[in-house]
Amino acid sequence: MFIYSGGEPLMRKKDIIALCERHNDCVFLSFTNGTLIDEAFADEMLRVGNFVPAISVEGFEEGTDFRRGQGTFARVKAAMELLHRKKLPFGLSCCYTSQNVEMIGSEEYFDWMVEMGAKFCWIFTYMPVGNGAPTNLIATAEQREFMYRQVRAFRKTKPLFTMDFWNDGEFVGGCIAAGRNYLHINANGDIEPCAFIHYSDSNIKEKTLIEAFQSPLFMAYRAGQPFSDNLLRPCPLLDNPGALAAMVEKSGAHSTDMQFPEDVHDLSEKCREKAEKWKPAADRLWACSHGCAGCTGHEGK
Ligand code: SF4
Repeated sequence: MFIYSGGEPLMRKKDIIALCERHNDCVFLSFTNGTLIDEAFADEMLRVGNFVPAISVEGFEEGTDFRRGQGTFARVKAAMELLHRKKLPFGLSCCYTSQNVEMIGSEEYFDWMVEMGAKFCWIFTYMPVGNGAPTNLIATAEQREFMYRQVRAFRKTKPLFTMDFWNDGEFVGGCIAAGRNYLHINANGDIEPCAFIHYSDSNIKEKTLIEAFQSPLFMAYRAGQPFSDNLLRPCPLLDNPGALAAMVEKSGAHSTDMQFPEDVHDLSEKCREKAEKWKPAADRLWACSHGCAGCTGHEGK
C-alpha cells in the first residue's frame, strides 16, 4: 500500500493513475484537499479500481476554510457527493488541535461523515513540527482523552472505520515508524522514519530500502520500539521527551527541512510540557483498560 501526503498529491493525478495501472496488485491512497476531484478523475478511479482518496477536512465550513482557504469546504463537499454518487470508496482525514477538538470529536461531525458516505476516517493530532510552528495548537491532555473516549464510543455505534494515529497505538504495538510497518520518503528522496519526523540519514537516490532499514537511525528506532510500555504513549516525539533527540543525535541524522532545518532538541522541547501532562492521563486510561488492581470503577473495563 502506498500513501501520498503532499502538498497536494492530486496535482499529479495523471501520474498517480498511471502508477495505479502499472501496479494493479497495490493500493494507492492519497491525502488530498479534494478540490481536484472531478467527473473525469472519478471515472479514472473507477477504471483502475485501486485508488482511494482521504479528503482532509477540519470540521465544518468555518474550520475547513480557516485552515485551507475560503470556499474549500464547498468544493470538498461537492467532491464527496460525486464520489458517493459513483459508489467510489473514500475517507476523510481530520487533524484535531486545541482549537477544533470539540467539533472533530462531536457526534454531529461523526454523523455528517457517515451521511456524506465516508467509509473511513484518519484522525491525527496537531504536531508542532517546523520552525515557528505554534505550540498552543497542541491538544491538551484533557482534549486528547476526550478524543480517546469519543472515538472508542462511536466505534460501537457508527458505521465508520476510524484510525486515530496516536491514540490507537495499542492496536499496532506502539510506534510503527522506521520500517516496522511503514516509512516516509519526502520529495527530495530523503528516507524518514515517519511522515511527522523530518530527520534522515538515507536517501532513496543513494540507498536501497534494505540499506535504509539498516541505517543507524532506523536501527535506533528498532532498538527503542515500543518507546513506552504504555502504548497510549507511543511516540518518541510527542509522548516520550528526549527519545527522538537521542536517536537523531546518536545516528548523526540531519534535518530534512529544505528551507528551515529544525534542531531536534528545539522540536522535542516544544512537546515536553504536553507529554508530561499526558503521561498521568494515559497511565490512568491504560490501567483502566488493561485491568488495574483495585480499580475503582473507571469505565475502561
Ligand atoms: S514516530 Fe510518532 S507519529 Fe510516527 S509512527 Fe511513531 S508514534 Fe506515530
